[in-house]
Amino acid sequence: MFDTHCHLNFKRFKKNVTEVIDRAVDVGVTNIVIPGTDIISSKKAVEIAEKHEGFYAAVGIHPHHAFELITNDELSITNEIDEIETLLTHPKVVAIGEVGMDRHVYEETKYAEYAVDERFLSTQKSLLTSQIQLAVTYNKSLILHNREAKSDLLPIIKKNWDSQLEGRTVFHCCEPDAELLIFAKNHKVFIGVDGDVTYDKAKQDFIRQVPLEMLVVETDSPFILPEPLLSEKKYPNEPANIQLIVREVASLKGETVEKIIELTTENGKSLFGLG
Ligand SMILES: [Zn+2]
Ligand SMILES: [Zn+2]
Repeated sequence: MFDTHCHLNFKRFKKNVTEVIDRAVDVGVTNIVIPGTDIISSKKAVEIAEKHEGFYAAVGIHPHHAFELITNDELSITNEIDEIETLLTHPKVVAIGEVGMDRHVYEETKYAEYAVDERFLSTQKSLLTSQIQLAVTYNKSLILHNREAKSDLLPIIKKNWDSQLEGRTVFHCCEPDAELLIFAKNHKVFIGVDGDVTYDKAKQDFIRQVPLEMLVVETDSPFILPEPLLSEKKYPNEPANIQLIVREVASLKGETVEKIIELTTENGKSLFGLG
């Protein structure tokens, strides 16, 4: 199985990353892409990927982190983008990610006085634009994050789109949205399916409409715990739980689990340009 989006680089896994990886390998996870959300976590993603065959890193500045850029005078967008650019030459870095737009007002955030205002959004937009351009320049895949911000995201990706991104881009944890699906179909963008598909009716209906050749699976660990683990409060989510997502997709699509494993693994490899 291919967990195409898993934050093994986050503090939550600092103490037990080895056991978490062992459990994933034991259930048949062969490939993982670890996305960064800022410079530190991007470097950490590379560090973990270096140690494991079949594991890869994505590097990028998450839109949530843009808040730190506007509130911390010691940081500058140019410097951050330069650092990401430097990391792109590492052989284990297969993608820019995760990058995108986010209008969600998080209840739990490390940033005091978090507010989604114009200044914050315009910083998110310029970060996204520069990072899409980096993916094109360096021929990397692109992991797009979008939360309640489709109308900000779509114009930016349309404006900066390059044919090279076709078949190499994913709407990670894709919101169930017809307009996103149309763009994805027209531009060969993959749709990332997460643990919420095990309980969210709108997501289930959406995934039924997505052609199998467009689907990739992801846990987004340590977040988005799937059922039945959610009811059992078995936090945090981890890559071994990808099997619950695969099982749900198989049932939604009326296919065997083996078929879904084979297809989503192949799709993941194709998304990240892995032979
Ligand atoms: Zn995300
Ligand atoms: Zn993520």
